[in-house]
Amino acid sequence: MPVEKAGRIYKMYARRLEKLGIKTFEDFLYHIPSRYDDFSLISKINRVQPGEVVTIQGTVSEINNEFTKNFKKLQRAEIADDTGTIEVVWFNQPYLTKVINKNDKISLSGTVDWFSRKLVMQSPEYEILNDSPTIHTGRLVPVYPETRGITSKWLRRQVYKLIKENLQTFVEYLPDQIINEHSLIKFDAAIKHIHFPQNKELAEKSKKRLSFDELFLLQLSSLERKLNWNKTLVSNPFSVDKFKNETENFLNRLPFKLTSAQKRVVEEIFKDLSKSKPMNRLLEGDVGSGKTVVSAIGMYLAFLNGFQSVLMAPTEILAQQHYKTISKLLEPFGIKIGFATGSTKTKLKKFDVMVGTHAVLEKGINFEKLGLVVIDEQQRFGVEQRAIIRSRGKNPHLLTMTATPIPRTIALTLYGDLDLSILDEMPIGRKQIKTWLVPPEKRLNAYAWIEKEIKTTKSQVFIVCPFIEESETMQTVKAANKEFEYLQKNVFKNPPAGEASLKLGLLHGKMKAKEKEEVLTKFRDGKIDILVATPVVEVGIDIPNAAIIVIEAAERFGLAQLHQLRGRVGRGDKQSYCLLFTESKNPQTLERLKAMEKHNFGAELAELDLKLRGPGEIYGTMQHGRKFLKIASFYDLDLIKRVRLAAEKIFPDLNRYPKLSEKLKTINLKKVSPD
Ligand code: ADP
Ligand code: MG
Repeated sequence: MPVEKAGRIYKMYARRLEKLGIKTFEDFLYHIPSRYDDFSLISKINRVQPGEVVTIQGTVSEINNEFTKNFKKLQRAEIADDTGTIEVVWFNQPYLTKVINKNDKISLSGTVDWFSRKLVMQSPEYEILNDSPTIHTGRLVPVYPETRGITSKWLRRQVYKLIKENLQTFVEYLPDQIINEHSLIKFDAAIKHIHFPQNKELAEKSKKRLSFDELFLLQLSSLERKLNWNKTLVSNPFSVDKFKNETENFLNRLPFKLTSAQKRVVEEIFKDLSKSKPMNRLLEGDVGSGKTVVSAIGMYLAFLNGFQSVLMAPTEILAQQHYKTISKLLEPFGIKIGFATGSTKTKLKKFDVMVGTHAVLEKGINFEKLGLVVIDEQQRFGVEQRAIIRSRGKNPHLLTMTATPIPRTIALTLYGDLDLSILDEMPIGRKQIKTWLVPPEKRLNAYAWIEKEIKTTKSQVFIVCPFIEESETMQTVKAANKEFEYLQKNVFKNPPAGEASLKLGLLHGKMKAKEKEEVLTKFRDGKIDILVATPVVEVGIDIPNAAIIVIEAAERFGLAQLHQLRGRVGRGDKQSYCLLFTESKNPQTLERLKAMEKHNFGAELAELDLKLRGPGEIYGTMQHGRKFLKIASFYDLDLIKRVRLAAEKIFPDLNRYPKLSEKLKTINLKKVSPD
């Protein structure tokens, strides 16, 4: 049940809860503690040691508001048990004298220390004792991911109530043999003890059980989707052999030879396209590995077979770039190409290929004979959108492309229903991007070097500002603004006599599409030397003359993501450079960033991200993955593999396990879909 349906209080909290990913009551149960405070040591008052985290339980013999010397409010109480009394203080919580009354039986957890020659308990967690077991004190206490206005204490109360009132509904749905084989605890116990464990071991076991479940259901639903997909037939499989001459001719007319990886992938795709079930393939390849050409060949084959294709990009900028590229590639063969985004739409009534953003889906464009849909940067499109796309044609083939370097194991977990192709080879002749980690003391030298490079080689430069928060908020934009002004005023300011000063531009996600396009056009035309940008530039911008990229606060990014950012340069003939700036002194962080100097493949770096789990992890490859997994971790490759085997083994006999099938139906589709 959605939380806001449950009365006024929840309605009030609904917006904030959504920030934590809690939309239904079930979500509360899967809002897993990030840690536990260990308040399980319950001590008599006369036994309490200074510096110790303890729980004391006794009677309130006094509680008052007082003022400190600087007129702040302080709450002072005295608690007694059968061994003695102790003083307790809180700061600035005047409401406490209303909730805690004299003679209340109370439980308090916190640190005890010397305070003007007395032992005092400072700002403890408190809880009035009654017949129920304690949940905030006197035990392992769950601490949850919080957000403004939603405290762990509040969450604890909700979760406790939910578990208590619904415990009988947590029926075991895993078959016994799986429970035994993987030494799992029971489902109801796991739900109970992940939140309110009796000891650390039980907390661990609960987490293990729920991680298993999460991955297991994810795998099963992938297998189910794959099965359903395989059941839908395309009206017409494409002929491949019949058009061998044409496709070869297409390849011969390209200004380059396909890499062997591209050839392999084209074959994989052609094989899919010739089948009577629709293709559902994920093509993963580094930026610049040549995914677009591969998809263009597919679209050409669709055309030869009398079918229309659609190529969708996540942003207007990308869609425009694709439109140019695809036009160049396909127009010479008499293919008519349309273009549609939120703000522009060509008036082509008849077209063979339509390029655009997902406005393509919304604008009532007539797809008489849609045969192939290509989606670039797939994780931005959700299952619902994929369903719409498919409904536009008669089960068109689907090719999704991503430059996000997802390690194979994880791709198979997240997108288990897709077939996977990886372009693991760069076109020949591509120069490697020289990458340096720049320590703070070399920052000025680096700026001077950049200035010289711009003047001598006419290269252009990206300066990427750090993420302030995960999504592009005003804070990130402000930081970019500040950096832009700082660089303009203080760094690239005094041209030698007779020389023009360098021109700086600013690009961020909060700009209007038109402004963005203006800035990018200027940059493309060489009217801007240095483009200061928020990490939005990560989305594929193709500017061949941009040969230097500076990434600020590099430690905040995952390696795979740094690699993607780095891919903004090295797209032309020039030797390109990537400068990673960091203020970090942590040897492990520096070591992790150093990997960027050595490794050049996204997939490799993604694997390293998995192994090293740097602080950048949360901004990195797994950023979109985190949305899928609430409990399990991608880093647990062992478990992932084990679960996959278990799921594959049981899937053919799924209907013998009605409770499991039922559970599978109820899991939230969004949680398992790439969006
Ligand atoms: P991606 O979409 O994978 O980032 P693109 O398809 O945009 O990469 O290709 C990047 C650039 O490389 C384009 O300019 C493209 O024309 C070129 N390219 C693609 N394949 C090859 C190849 N086999 N040899 C040389 N250049 C290639
Ligand atoms: Mg691309």
